[in-house]
Amino acid sequence: MRVHLCGVRGSTPAVGAEFTGVGGNTSCVALAHDDEAAPRLVLDAGTGLRAVSALMGGEPFRGSILLGHLHWDHTQGLPFFRSADRPDAVTRVFVPEQGVPPLELLGRFMGPPSFPILAPDLQGSWSFDSIDEGTHVVEDFTVLVREIPHKGGRTMGYRIDDGCSSVAYLSDHGPARMMGPGPDGFGPYHEAAMELCTGVDLLIHDAQYTASELPFRLNFGHSAADYAVGLARHCGAARVLLFHHDPDRTDTEVAAIERAMRRGEDVSVDAAREGETIWLGASSDTA
Ligand SMILES: [Zn+2]
Ligand SMILES: [Zn+2]
Repeated sequence: MRVHLCGVRGSTPAVGAEFTGVGGNTSCVALAHDDEAAPRLVLDAGTGLRAVSALMGGEPFRGSILLGHLHWDHTQGLPFFRSADRPDAVTRVFVPEQGVPPLELLGRFMGPPSFPILAPDLQGSWSFDSIDEGTHVVEDFTVLVREIPHKGGRTMGYRIDDGCSSVAYLSDHGPARMMGPGPDGFGPYHEAAMELCTGVDLLIHDAQYTASELPFRLNFGHSAADYAVGLARHCGAARVLLFHHDPDRTDTEVAAIERAMRRGEDVSVDAAREGETIWLGASSDTA
């Protein structure tokens, strides 16, 4: 499969020359089958979702968006997804089950008085459904869904498999706050995380903080980069992408964290950078 990194920033967009190398758009990753030109499965709808339209080659989007949770940085791109907001587009949106109808949840932030239009006002065919833990088939991918600890609303981690390769996506994951320090001091490698990540080809994981920042920022429910690398090592992931960069983190600082996390690990570590495409499977590579 192809993995398009369309938004890699956490919390709120980062604008300015010091952020352009890593990119300032918030969480959005688009997945495409090897034999298809356009992505059909999109993970999260942060401001990076606008970049998915550029991958569509002028065609309408016909696929699904899996929202890991409903925080601003994972939803604010939804009304600006031009390839889906057209009469010939077909979009299915999946929202983590939390006992409230999906459209009611979305309407709390996408609708008057917070926003001029409601989700159903978008053009094209849209459906909005809840998704819960378990194994699902979405857009011909096998998707394992597990709840993971974050903060403020139910958050899902996803493992996506196309039969040849697999990706785990835990964009916002902060086990240290709720579950304690674990073996390395950054949070335990708990059962849901291990199930999502064991043996994956690519782990895309929350790396918002440094180890020294984590104790002072636990309240936001994120991880240190050290946890992302530790989890990758514990679960035998081939490669980990440090994702959900803090909005204040400059290109220089992200590169420094990347270097520090590469300290002789047996797992391949890279910082996620907006605009990159990763090929998984027989011809694995990054562009
Ligand atoms: Zn986030
Ligand atoms: Zn969040």
